[in-house]
Amino acid sequence: MTIKKLSDTIASQIAAGEVVDRPVSVVKELIENAIDAGASEIQVEIQKAGREFIRVSDNGEGIPHEELELAVSRHATSKLSKTEELFDIKTLGFRGEALASIGSVSHLTLISRQANEDVAAKLIVDGGVNSPLQNVAVAIGTEITVEDLFYNVPARLKFLRKDITEAKHITGLVTRYAMAYPHIRWSLTQDGNLEFQSTGSKNRLEILQALFGTHETKSLMPLNFSEKDLAIEGFISDLSLTRSNRKDITLFVNGRWVQDPTLTAAVIKAYNTMLMVGRYPVVVLFLTIPTNLVDVNVHPTKAEVRFRDQDHVFSGVQRAIRRGLLAYTPIPDLNSLNLWGRQTQAPILTSFNEQWQAQTAESTQTPIGVEALATQQEPLPGTHLPLLRLVGQVASTYLVAEGPDGLYLIDQHAAHERVLFDQMMAQYRASTVSSQKLIDAIPVELSPEKAGILEANLATMASLGFEIELFGPNTFLIRSIPTIVDRGDPKDAILAVVDAFEEDETPLENEAQAKVAARVCKGMAVKGGQSLTEPEQRSLLLNLEASQSPRTCPHGRPTMIHLSANILERQFGRRGAR
Ligand code: ADP
Ligand code: MG
Repeated sequence: MTIKKLSDTIASQIAAGEVVDRPVSVVKELIENAIDAGASEIQVEIQKAGREFIRVSDNGEGIPHEELELAVSRHATSKLSKTEELFDIKTLGFRGEALASIGSVSHLTLISRQANEDVAAKLIVDGGVNSPLQNVAVAIGTEITVEDLFYNVPARLKFLRKDITEAKHITGLVTRYAMAYPHIRWSLTQDGNLEFQSTGSKNRLEILQALFGTHETKSLMPLNFSEKDLAIEGFISDLSLTRSNRKDITLFVNGRWVQDPTLTAAVIKAYNTMLMVGRYPVVVLFLTIPTNLVDVNVHPTKAEVRFRDQDHVFSGVQRAIRRGLLAYTPIPDLNSLNLWGRQTQAPILTSFNEQWQAQTAESTQTPIGVEALATQQEPLPGTHLPLLRLVGQVASTYLVAEGPDGLYLIDQHAAHERVLFDQMMAQYRASTVSSQKLIDAIPVELSPEKAGILEANLATMASLGFEIELFGPNTFLIRSIPTIVDRGDPKDAILAVVDAFEEDETPLENEAQAKVAARVCKGMAVKGGQSLTEPEQRSLLLNLEASQSPRTCPHGRPTMIHLSANILERQFGRRGAR
């Protein structure tokens, strides 16, 4: 093969692959341009998840007629002229690539008018080829329309996720930018429905509520921190609001949304040990740092940044969050009271464990922690449980039972999860799901993003006995719940289900049911720290005996620790003594 220079079109399409790989990245580039243009109003309109139609209109400074063609050509920017400026970037854009890239993989229409111009000019770009300018009458500002994205790179189309997923990303993007720029009036319309709107009141709380709902917003504490070259503003969740993934950790650096794994890790670390394993906080932070101390030119979509003094930024983030958390004193509730009546923030499960370990460590004997014993646990033949005799409940969290081969310590929450899950799945498979109508339907308000997920999964929920209906924008009513779940908060269960779907975007049909069931049962199962009546304890034990896989909860954690007669004998030194 001989070496040839690529045509401009192919070169742009290759470059486009780096800048725009899906509809949401187009929206991001267009929004960033509008912000750079000093707009106080930005309207985003989407059709078919952005595949067919994306329009971003702003009332910013506009582009002079004679520069329109330049704006859509590669490496043309008004934001950068000298190399030194590259290390002191004050705008969101600077590479002059976005419009050229987008124009090479779509039908792009650019209409713009500056304050000193009587009419606007319109430029159409089709797969990288410009048509002659036309005059049109519109208000001051810029309107960019992108139609049939990737029509000429069909391979790229194949990589797009389901519409619901692409749309969800766009909603997430726009609401987050709205939060970062609360003085701008934002609106987002998808397929003709106004999905999100803000007033430009500079009030971040207003947008936070639209994003997380009024209920969750109550668990978000404002943060204000400044130190040397670093200022941090934003919101952090108290310990009662957590997620099963890190998607609700949102970080902006100098007005730029970054999805930087190391910075995210710094945030999670600040919560270290305060949250249960596998739980993540909800955090929205806006970092301000002198622009010459951040390199924003290290990532194709500018999603990651590099700090001149990374340690300073990371430790600043951690100090800010820790300070915020310390300032917060939790309101005591029944669940946070442990066995000794002392108030604790830690879930009872761990606090009990710690006390046990502390006690055993104090004694002069060789300490035997629960964990140590668990690792010595002897495998039992078969998975079924033998018949067990209930001894009682310990620490309102564990059941103690005796079997033919020793002692069983059963985690009541994990065990109940397993029992509920088996019952729910058995009913589902036999198509005998029974559900009960709630006397008062329970309203659930979600962020637009989460609402979209729930809406798409209403059928799955219904097949498991949850009758949920869309009630208003982003609001649902829970009308019926499965009969087998008669305790716990249905709303919490539903929120957990949405979390689960958020983590995995395209679950298989059957997996979806099992996944929902597992989440629901987690939310509905008795918790550690709840005392159970004797009949309740007995029935839990009976049901667990009936299970096909009684030894783990649906998430794979153990439901029980078995201390065989053998282990007991050894630990008490009975074996050797004989
Ligand atoms: P960059 O933002 O990196 O400069 P773009 O390709 O996104 O590159 O845009 C090219 C140029 O077009 C910008 O530098 C800017 O001058 C102009 N431009 C693009 N969008 C707008 C807009 N919404 N309002 C005003 N000017 C714009
Ligand atoms: Mg740009």
